[in-house]
Amino acid sequence: MAEQKSFAIIGAGIFGLSLANALRDRNHDVTVFDRSQYDRNGYSAEDKDVQAASVDHNKIFRASYGTKIHYQRLAMEGRKAWILEDERRGCTEQDYASGETRLFVNGGMLRVQSSNVLDVLEEETLENMERDGLREAQFVRSNSGDRQRAQELGWKAKLLDFKITEGSSDTYYEAVLDSTAGFIRCSNACAHYQKVAAAKGVKFHFGPESGAVESLVKIPSDEAPGKSKVTGVRTKNGKFYDADVVIVAAGSFSTQILPDLSYHLESSAGSLAIFKIDPTDKKLWDKYSPENFPVITWHSTPRDSTGKDSGSIYVLPRTPEGLVKIGYRGMKFTNFQSAPDGTPFTQDGQWSVPLPAKNCYSLPEQSIHSIRQFVSTFLPEFDGLPFYSTKLCWYTDSLDNSFVIDYVPEYAEKSVFVCTGGSGHGAKFLPVLGKHAANILEHGDLSTSYMRPFWRWRPDIPRRNGLEEGPGGPRNITVG
Ligand SMILES: Cc1cc2nc3c(=O)[nH]c(=O)nc-3n(C[C@H](O)[C@H](O)[C@H](O)COP(=O)(O)OP(=O)(O)OC[C@H]3O[C@@H](n4cnc5c(N)ncnc54)[C@H](O)[C@@H]3O)c2cc1C
Repeated sequence: MAEQKSFAIIGAGIFGLSLANALRDRNHDVTVFDRSQYDRNGYSAEDKDVQAASVDHNKIFRASYGTKIHYQRLAMEGRKAWILEDERRGCTEQDYASGETRLFVNGGMLRVQSSNVLDVLEEETLENMERDGLREAQFVRSNSGDRQRAQELGWKAKLLDFKITEGSSDTYYEAVLDSTAGFIRCSNACAHYQKVAAAKGVKFHFGPESGAVESLVKIPSDEAPGKSKVTGVRTKNGKFYDADVVIVAAGSFSTQILPDLSYHLESSAGSLAIFKIDPTDKKLWDKYSPENFPVITWHSTPRDSTGKDSGSIYVLPRTPEGLVKIGYRGMKFTNFQSAPDGTPFTQDGQWSVPLPAKNCYSLPEQSIHSIRQFVSTFLPEFDGLPFYSTKLCWYTDSLDNSFVIDYVPEYAEKSVFVCTGGSGHGAKFLPVLGKHAANILEHGDLSTSYMRPFWRWRPDIPRRNGLEEGPGGPRNITVG
């Protein structure tokens, strides 16, 4: 049993909540700080002041990860945990299909390819699904055996046909329906896991005064001369809270709290557009319900020779409020601003940070164009209709799309730990991420988590994954 310690976690999004629960389960003393007033707004995705990737109606759950079998396995571990948690919450088989009360809805995901043949990424995914005995849960559109199995298992109606509009021949996009996948109700999940944590004894400080962390408090270390040790955090209202370890889990704001992360992470914006269906429009209401409509992802272009994906777009089934959300991540936009003096890594003295919340409600022209193009093929009833709402939602991209969960070596006596770098795919892991992170926190290199090598502090990795572009790159929203 590891020594009992006190932890101050900055950020009550998915990463902070997941780790807070896991650390409390290991009997540690845990306090979480968040500048958003989640105790009042219940993580509502309608609150326009909140800037957190985790605060959203829904996020995709998938275990399809190309060659990255470790994430496939983590996703399947997470899937089990979501189902168990929903059962604990009293969800029954009856509400399985529409999933209105569920946090995880197993409605399937249709991975539509860029042409009428399988992309390389898809072949890699199917190989790894085969390796772990999950191939039977995948249905390839052009494979007669798979179609037959989809029919027998009740998935056929979601194996949808979409015609390729370019060219004159009657060809359809190749597609794979993944029956292990679906979506999670993200805001509901945060609200639930926050309550679970509070009931276990995790303390929370919320709000722009008592929950906002202004700085980490540092003193010279006795054990490592020349290095600082962090002894706690100071909040906006001037209060000091001491802790054995301060954990930064502030998503796309993490670099601003801990500039030591500036080499490792970059904030970039994904584009979201929502249509709203009126319940009286029964035809649309039923068509886009989770019972009848899968999550759909589409790569409008295959990955390039470096593995870069520039055409990715997706839609989720309607929410109980009738919202149909489309996400465009073909281009993740950066917002380069002057970095504070002393920031360890900058590009021309700048770094990309989230725009202020009030500037996040309109989309760049490129996103609108790509979303409209997607809608015309995949959601024809909405073609030409105005969006109900639009939003830029901020990713925390790492150098290789793996999370960053480790001690920060710049600080002495293991006083600072980071748990962030979600890179656009962290939400699905909420029920299990914290357990792996807590194991790493307690045991470092001796950790038994199979994610340890992927999440370590990695200054040796070159700046890539788009993070090499800098302010002069094509994604910088603040230029032109
Ligand atoms: C557009 C988009 C689409 C995505 N789609 C998917 C998907 O389909 N599937 C999936 O699995 N994942 C998806 N993700 C990724 C997933 O949402 C993130 O990995 C996850 O939500 C990150 O959680 P977090 O806790 O690290 O950050 P956040 O949710 O951003 O939380 C950080 C918290 O820190 C708080 N904070 C910031 N500064 C301070 C401060 N100074 N003091 C106190 N608190 C502070 C914020 O208020 C916030 O609550 C997507 C992300 C984006 C942006």
